[in-house]
Amino acid sequence: MMKLLRCQWLRVVCFLWSFSILAEEPFSFEKTPGKLPKTVVPRHYELALKPDLESMSFTGSEVIEIEVLEPVSEVVLNSHNLTIATAHSRSEANGTAASTPRRPDSQAVVPLSSSVRWEEMSLSMDVTNQCVRLRSATALVPGLHYLRLNFSGKISTSPVGMFLIKYKSPSGPKKMIATQFEATDARQVFPCFDEPAFRATFSLTVEVPLGITPVSNMPVARSVISAQASKKVSFLKTPSMPTYLLVLVVGELDYIAGRAGGIDTRVWFTEGKRQQALYALKNSERLLAYYQKYFGVAFPLPKLDHIALPGGFGGAMEHWGAITYNESTVLFDPAVNSQDNKERSFAIMAHEMAHQWFGNLVTMAWWDNLWLNEGFASWMGTKATDFLNPSWNHWLRVDTGKVGLMVLDAQKSTHPIQRPVMSESQIGDSFDGITYQKGMFFIRMLEDYLGEQKFQQGLQSYMKRHAFGNTTTSDLWIELAKSSQQPVTQFAAGWTEQPGLPVILASSTDVGREQVIVLRQERFTLLDPKADPLRWKIPATVAVAGSKGVLAKVLLEDAPITLKLGVGDQAIKLNAGSRGYYRTAYDKPMFERLRRSWTKFPESDQVNFLSDAWAMVETERLRVSDYLDLIPALRKGTSLAVWEQALGSLGTIDALLEGHQFQSHYRRRILSLLQPVLAEIGVQTKAGESPQQELLRAHLIGLLGAFGSPEILAEARRRFAVYLNDPSSLTGALRPTMLRIVGQYASNTDYAKLLGLARAAVLEEESGMLLSALAGASQLDLAGQTLALSLAGDFSPIQSARLVSAISATGRHAPLAWDFMKQHHRELMQLLGGPFINMYAGTTVAGFSDEIHATEYVEFIKANYPPDALAKAEEAADRIRYKAHLKRLISSSIQRWIEPLQTR
Ligand SMILES: [Zn+2]
Repeated sequence: MMKLLRCQWLRVVCFLWSFSILAEEPFSFEKTPGKLPKTVVPRHYELALKPDLESMSFTGSEVIEIEVLEPVSEVVLNSHNLTIATAHSRSEANGTAASTPRRPDSQAVVPLSSSVRWEEMSLSMDVTNQCVRLRSATALVPGLHYLRLNFSGKISTSPVGMFLIKYKSPSGPKKMIATQFEATDARQVFPCFDEPAFRATFSLTVEVPLGITPVSNMPVARSVISAQASKKVSFLKTPSMPTYLLVLVVGELDYIAGRAGGIDTRVWFTEGKRQQALYALKNSERLLAYYQKYFGVAFPLPKLDHIALPGGFGGAMEHWGAITYNESTVLFDPAVNSQDNKERSFAIMAHEMAHQWFGNLVTMAWWDNLWLNEGFASWMGTKATDFLNPSWNHWLRVDTGKVGLMVLDAQKSTHPIQRPVMSESQIGDSFDGITYQKGMFFIRMLEDYLGEQKFQQGLQSYMKRHAFGNTTTSDLWIELAKSSQQPVTQFAAGWTEQPGLPVILASSTDVGREQVIVLRQERFTLLDPKADPLRWKIPATVAVAGSKGVLAKVLLEDAPITLKLGVGDQAIKLNAGSRGYYRTAYDKPMFERLRRSWTKFPESDQVNFLSDAWAMVETERLRVSDYLDLIPALRKGTSLAVWEQALGSLGTIDALLEGHQFQSHYRRRILSLLQPVLAEIGVQTKAGESPQQELLRAHLIGLLGAFGSPEILAEARRRFAVYLNDPSSLTGALRPTMLRIVGQYASNTDYAKLLGLARAAVLEEESGMLLSALAGASQLDLAGQTLALSLAGDFSPIQSARLVSAISATGRHAPLAWDFMKQHHRELMQLLGGPFINMYAGTTVAGFSDEIHATEYVEFIKANYPPDALAKAEEAADRIRYKAHLKRLISSSIQRWIEPLQTR
């Protein structure tokens, strides 16, 4: 093995000789990619909208102040699914309006109608490019001009552009409206320069019925009663920003208000949810104070709203000054919800609030740098969550996500963090694990490498230098290089501009009583034998069992590094604290030492060791049975994150053993291993225990229940019966866990009861939890009923679409879910609309683990969808192939591990 590696190494060095990474340039408006010509730029939009829920449409008018940079005969704007009735232009010279003041806090002075002469422009739609070309009789000369347009559009039922939300409330069914423009859907609501480098200010006016509240990015400037039973509400002018950050929410809304760091902050909600909003308000105040200090720049708007939407879209969106959330991601009821809900709510708020600076105040120039927004907000949000809630060990729990992420990044279909994107579909595809999680883990490693303080100093300079502007990744590296005096660009380019990740091959030789460690790197791949043999600059760290902290730090590049650490025969581990984004594969002597003493390392290293051991299974350096032999050492362990890491792999193995002759044996052995652990913690919640203990109990019960423990199943049924009469009897982490177990083993009667509860639920979180229980039903006919629910319109579009993915994910009924998808893909895609349909399609085959379905899925997408959909289809197919590969490994090795039980 060692010889082979050396040969490969020489070959790689030759290859690298001719390989170089081209780092990108700092932001330049002219060089920023995009479809719109750079000859005309918007300065200000005076925008008026009037939605009408009866006709599911809206009308609008706008005056856009533009600056013409060189003579043009046409102006190109984005417009999609809009009907533009009229378009006129006027130059500053023939109008009375002065140049619009540029100060972000000032009011616009451009009148919506004027007696001055407007020239009619001809319209030509470019449907393919989602553009409209406006031509005037005479060329527009350089300088300020105004465009005036009247238009109308449709209110969507899926969460793109301006969309409808239907929801249940204590006083009956209700409707409301919200907008979602990221990435390219502002153009579905008003003609605009819909690319992020075209920043402008916005003054929005909306006409709504009396009694209905509109909320937007800025505070209300004035509200005037207009026609019968309606009012015109105008908002203050926004600072300069991209179109995708504009928002409008219109509904029967209530709020609670607070204040932090001189900023008003409110949480908006629909009827009856005041109690669940209190937690978010407190978090907003804490996070505002934290971020103002961290970024060294005051929050740039006069207020920050958080709006809990009862349905609509699935996540949260960082609209400047008015963040929207699916209410299930932000509302929290301490009497009912679990620690997981609590942490998720905090972390999502922390992510979206980080964007208020990183993304909104300073915006990526183009979508190829989406990671600058998302990787950074993910890192910053996790850092803030961890710092403000030290008892949660939040980074540790987030770290367990590396297993799935690194599988994604190790396969053929992966892509660099930064990559060229042009089409709307490619932009949507970029909102993935590589952009968010890999971006986050890379930044964490970079911060660790440069030093926390220097990193913060660099960030603060970056914020100040580029406030209200656009940047590329290069602009950030420039500031970080200044503050750290390190060659950041050269270090980072390998991580952001190359696909994939490295594995450090660690080997040891005993010389006398000392170990000599040799570290070398290669690319970590799964099922991709022809992958380019790339190299990275890896900030490798070394730790020793039983002692805290980092024993050695080295920058591992092309050449192997030899270390003599003077620690005798103690176990040595790489990636101390799990700060690095890389895998480590240990040779036999090192692994043997670690196997005996891995639980003596800090929790972060235990999580990392288990994760790396699993990766050694994936790459056939370790047998599944050897991995499973590590688990008994955890029996006395109480670390939630370490258990989460372990239980995750136990669940994966079980799912891949579905239908296998040894599945029941495997389950029995796991039950015998975990039952004593649960007995130690106790099945019932104890007064005064930590939330982590409560979660660990729920996880153990969840796995034991899923694996068929008769005691747990009986307990779940008992708790469910009580719950039906008294919902307050089942709360916290046990609530979703017990309901999931009831769902899995549901009889027709149980199923009907769960469905009744889901239909009656007022909160998205509650209906989501119950639907998830229904989707786990083992009975084939019940799975069929759940699939039918996805098109019945009883639940929000996002919840409905997710049912198909959830049924597939169980693996049990993957073929049923896939058949349903093939039959109804158009209706299912319509539920979601927007940029995420390529990713959604892949989730409907997530339960497969065989090559045939991987191929079939790609062929289906090729036959039914545009070529742009193929990249995400290949990714989903790779995931299936990975599971097929893992299934083979498990099947060939599991017998050895279960044999002790069989012979008993
Ligand atoms: Zn984000």
